[in-house]
Amino acid sequence: MTQTRYRWRVVGNEALLNQLESDIAQNNLSHAYIFSGPPETGKRTVAVTLAHILQCENDFCHDCKICMQISKGIHSETMEFRDDGEQLGIDAMRDLVVRLNLTPSATYKIVIIERAERMTLEAANCLLKTLEEPPAQTLFILTTDNIRELLPTVISRCRTLGFRLCEEDGLFNFLKEKYFDIDDSTLKLVCELSLGRPGVAFKILEDPEIMRFYKSLYQDLSRFFDFNNAFERMVYLQEFIEDKDRITIFLDIFTHLTRRKLLAGEADPSRYLRLIDAISFTKLALRQHVNSRLALENLMLSF
Ligand SMILES: [Zn+2]
Repeated sequence: MTQTRYRWRVVGNEALLNQLESDIAQNNLSHAYIFSGPPETGKRTVAVTLAHILQCENDFCHDCKICMQISKGIHSETMEFRDDGEQLGIDAMRDLVVRLNLTPSATYKIVIIERAERMTLEAANCLLKTLEEPPAQTLFILTTDNIRELLPTVISRCRTLGFRLCEEDGLFNFLKEKYFDIDDSTLKLVCELSLGRPGVAFKILEDPEIMRFYKSLYQDLSRFFDFNNAFERMVYLQEFIEDKDRITIFLDIFTHLTRRKLLAGEADPSRYLRLIDAISFTKLALRQHVNSRLALENLMLSF
């Protein structure tokens, strides 16, 4: 793997970074990219870094006026729709199209849409028209955790780059450099808990309360398989059943531990296979806003 030319501030995914760098070097950038892959794998960081590289007049110097403005999210030619958990409607897209057509610009106009699956059908169709006839010097970067939720017509207009989970070794070395005052065993545990997603590892390390939650969840879940009945399991879940973020973390670690039991060759592999299916079904149901209590009860009854 060749070393990257720019500092992308992410771990792993070198092949994709090399691809982007060669697109830049050969003047072969697409007018639209989709950064697709699991949450917290660096998609937005790479999108913003690409904006820096293209907008900065000093080849991404980190401290000119433009670099500062992009970092603060106030650069007028770099427009970002951050993921606020809300849908992205037609009005926002119409405003964007007006803005893009307003004034020709000598430099790039860069539009970053975080979790583009938040777009309503109308918004996506509006964007599609712009992707079909993009204004000059415009670059779209759509990030998505689930590319199947994007319109196929939108996907076909973009160059898709797939982000992957990070190898544990690579992540460990990266964390060790950044958090040199934290001991190795904690860092190793964080690597495992983050399931290969650097963004999650940073969150755990930056916030003692999140660290505590992850650690206790991990310990409790190791015993979870021994609980005798669904009722006991539900009692355990009561504490955070209304907290969507924590339920997501719970399901992620649950999947991880189930997979590990399966790979360890424990008796009755079909039980764990069924469980992995049931967990991913539950995740899907929760994404589609099914009542979380109901979805989790079904899961607890399924093993
Ligand atoms: Zn700069």
